[in-house]
Parts: sequence; C-alpha cells; structure tokens
Amino acid sequence: MNIISWNCRGAGSKAFPSIIRDLRQEYDANFFILLETHVSGPRGKQIRDKMGFDKSFVVDAMGHSGGIWCLWDSAVWNVDVVDQDRQYIHLKGICSSWENVQANCIWRVGDGSLIRFWDHYWIPDVGNLSATVNQVSNITNSSDMLTDFLDVSGQWDIRKLQEVLPEDVVKRIATISPPSPWKEADHIAWGLSSDGQFSIKTAYQNLRDTQATPNKIFQLVWTWKGPERVRTFLWLVIHNAILTNVERSRRHLTTDNACPRCRQHEESILHLLRDCSYARRVWQRLIPANGIHSFFNTSLHDWLILNLTANSYWSCLFGVAISSLWFFRNKLVFKGEIVDAASGSYQIQARTKEFLKVATSNLKPKNNQDTSGSIIRWVRPNGEYIKLNVDGSWFAHRSNAACGGVFRDSAGRYLIGFAGNLGNCSIMHAELWAIVHGLTIAITHGYQNLMVESDSVAAINFIKNGSSSGHHCAPLIQDVRVLTERLKKVSWIHVFREANTVADQLAKKGHDLPLGLHIFDSSPPDISYALLCDCIGTVRLRGS
Ligand SMILES: [Zn+2]
Repeated sequence: MNIISWNCRGAGSKAFPSIIRDLRQEYDANFFILLETHVSGPRGKQIRDKMGFDKSFVVDAMGHSGGIWCLWDSAVWNVDVVDQDRQYIHLKGICSSWENVQANCIWRVGDGSLIRFWDHYWIPDVGNLSATVNQVSNITNSSDMLTDFLDVSGQWDIRKLQEVLPEDVVKRIATISPPSPWKEADHIAWGLSSDGQFSIKTAYQNLRDTQATPNKIFQLVWTWKGPERVRTFLWLVIHNAILTNVERSRRHLTTDNACPRCRQHEESILHLLRDCSYARRVWQRLIPANGIHSFFNTSLHDWLILNLTANSYWSCLFGVAISSLWFFRNKLVFKGEIVDAASGSYQIQARTKEFLKVATSNLKPKNNQDTSGSIIRWVRPNGEYIKLNVDGSWFAHRSNAACGGVFRDSAGRYLIGFAGNLGNCSIMHAELWAIVHGLTIAITHGYQNLMVESDSVAAINFIKNGSSSGHHCAPLIQDVRVLTERLKKVSWIHVFREANTVADQLAKKGHDLPLGLHIFDSSPPDISYALLCDCIGTVRLRGS
C-alpha cells in the first residue's frame, strides 16, 4: 500500500502521464493524489486515461486554478467518496491487505479437529508446511490432520515426522503441545502479538518492516531537516525530475541541452548544481577550504549522500544551496535576472541560519511579529480598524506590471479585494497604484479607519517622508496624500512579503486580467488558501 500525494501545479504537460507511470512503478504506488492540476474536462480525462489507473475521483480545475485528482487501483483499494468541495475531497478507503493479515494468522493447537497438517499455518516461524517443505510434496496429503501424526500415547510420532520433514521442522513441532480431545477446539490467533489478539499497531509495523526498504538516499531526504519546500526540491533531484535542459531534451521538449549560464556544457543536474562555473563560485564561498577537493569529485548519487549525511548545519545548508541554485537559474532563464555568486551565497547562508535558529527554538513564536524577523505572519487589525494589504508585481518576461489588494476586518474576514493590470510601468508605480486603488475603494466603502500594509519599504517611505516633486512617482504620491485626507485614520506599515501573501497573489492575478481595475466582492477561489492561512495565523518562515 503506497500513496503518493503531489502538489503538481499543472498536469497538462506532455510528459506528465509518463512521469506518473514512472513514479507509480518506482514506488509501487497504487493511490495518487494530484493537487493543482490546472486542467479540467475532457482534456483532463484524456490525461488521466494515460496514467493507467482504473478508478478516479476528480474535482475539476476552475479555469487555470485548482483541481484535485485522486486515482487508484481498484484491485488494491475500495474507496468511497464522503464529501467534496472545490478545495477538498474527503475519501474513505479500505486497502486490501487480506494477504498480509492471512499470512500472520496462526492456528493455536487445541483438539486437532480443524487444523490441516500441511495446509495451515500452525508452526510458529515456519509457515504452512506444504509451502515450506517442497521436497516432500509427493507425500503430502492435504487431508492429513494433526492427529494423523500422533502415536498411540497421544504424543507426537517423532519417527513418522522425521520421515516426511526436515530435522529443524521436527524440532519445532516437538515443542508444540500436541492436540488432545480434552482441549478446546483449534482456533486462529494473530501471530504478531504475544496474546494472539489482533492489533493495528502490530499489523502496521509488520507492513512497514516487510515493505521493500527504499534506498538510503530516499531515507535521507525523508529525514532531512530543513525547509519543507526545499525537501520537495531534493525529492525531485533524486528522481532526476528537475527540468534541466538535458532532461527537457530527453523528453523532447527542446533540442538545446546546453547550460543557459555558461553555454559550454550540457546542463545536467550535476552541472547545474555543482560543476558550472557559476555554481562553483557559489560553493567556494560556502565550503570549508579543506573540503573542496572531495566536494567536486563525486557522482551525483555519492555527492548527495555525502552532503545529506553531514552535520545538521551543513546538510541543511546543502539543501538550501542546491534549491537556491535552481531558483537562481530560473530567475536567469525566465526573468533575465542575475544573482551574483557573492549575494547568492550570502542568501543561502542567511536562509539556513534562519531556519536552524527557528528549528532550535522549537518553533515557538513569540508575539506576532517576531523581533528576530524570522517568523512572520499576518496579524488581524484591532477592532476599530480595517486592514488593507497591497502589493505590486512586475513580470519582466512580459514587460507587464500589475497590482492587487485585500481588505479584511478584525476577525480576519475578507471584505473586498481587487486586482489591476497596469500595463508597462515600473514596479514602484505598481506598488503605489495598489495603494491608490486601495484608498479609493476604502473611501467608497466607508472604511474610515485604515491600516495599510505594503511589503515595499520604498513605497512606505515615500508616503511617510514625501518625494521630490520631480520624482517620476510624485503624481501618485500626491494622489495618495489627497485620498488619505478623505479618511479618518490611516496608518502605514511595512510588512515582510511572507505576511502579505494574499495581496501578492492578487497582484500576480492582475497580469492575467484585462487592462484596468477589477474588484472582487467575494474572494476569488485561488486566494482562499492564503486567506485561511492568514486567518488562522499560520506562521511563515522568512524566505518560504
Ligand atoms: Zn554552465
């Protein structure tokens, strides 16, 4: 029984069904849960049909967001749907495990009336004799009962047993009290507990122990201590599922397998994460000087083992570093942004230290906005205030800016939200536009006491301190000032990006909307998870 759950964020790619089939085979998985599939309808069905499961239950994506697919093998699972919604599926499933139960049920010898000598499992640790003792198969008689192997005095007929069974089995039988008419009837007991009573715990333990143990590297990733998102990345690395250009060309997604950074080598995983001149420069800033040689001279597999088995600081840093190298690579490829090796390695160290600091303090957040700055969460406004979170967004590859914002009350309830597609302007403009739109909506809805949170330090500083009249943002700052005067109380707060997730998601959404401002009287489904996290005060790690 193996279940795989994957937040796959899109199941539409050509290679997707074959990835699922690979995973299925590799893990002997018979139940798949795929989240954020982003495809629906007949196209979704077409994709699922290629995955090779005979049963499924699906909540379709809404447009290009959401989507939950559950797929399973009906030979193994018997599943009922209890409840469903756009955001969840509640299933009740029984996994066929009868074979395992049967294999661990053992007959306790009583009067000998029910146990068949050859076919039943009645000798501890030996199993049933017909399966164990194949060399004597020609003399087994399935109708033999235990009493057929007793002598006249009611004891085991050792000589007869020796004629048909190997010595070690005979010795085991000799230790079992022979059947007798004075005893109660033969009965079945659970072989894994001392009292013969079935328990889930022992059954589970047994299933776990007898399952093929995954290789060491899976175990290492499983127990690795570091940010969860990085663990997911490690998982992809050990499965060769990182879409480097080598992998993309293997899947016929491109014909160019060169490293996008140095253009001198193929972009294999090891090149990208270690051997590229850029990666080397990052690592050289991180590795202790005496470790450099062994670090750069191993296969991918050995390299991962070497580093993931290191002390907790290094193994955490290693994971953070390789996932950051992938992140920097994508920044370069998709946005044309370059993170130089010095600031890259600095970010990696800072992130690792923050994680470990939090991990050692046992994830006990102090008040809400932790002074160390490493634990961050959205905080509800005081009773009389309405909180407005705003954000701007810039997609370099599309040369497009967008903004978004959300109003919530002291109970964390969503009041109204907005997203705007701004066209081609600077990120600073986008941040300020978010505020201007937000203030305008506040005025029309009578939100007189407002707390405005933005993750742009520059925007907040501009508003608090003003800008020179010649600054390209001056007209917007002016707007902000005029609008603010029409409200009773407005306070300006800078928050970290991680505490501003909802606004950030709305701003990103803005890119896909027609040019102009769009107001959402009820919350769009794609931000509901972030809203919930904020509402229940989910702690977010800095950089998560
Ligand atoms: Zn390279």
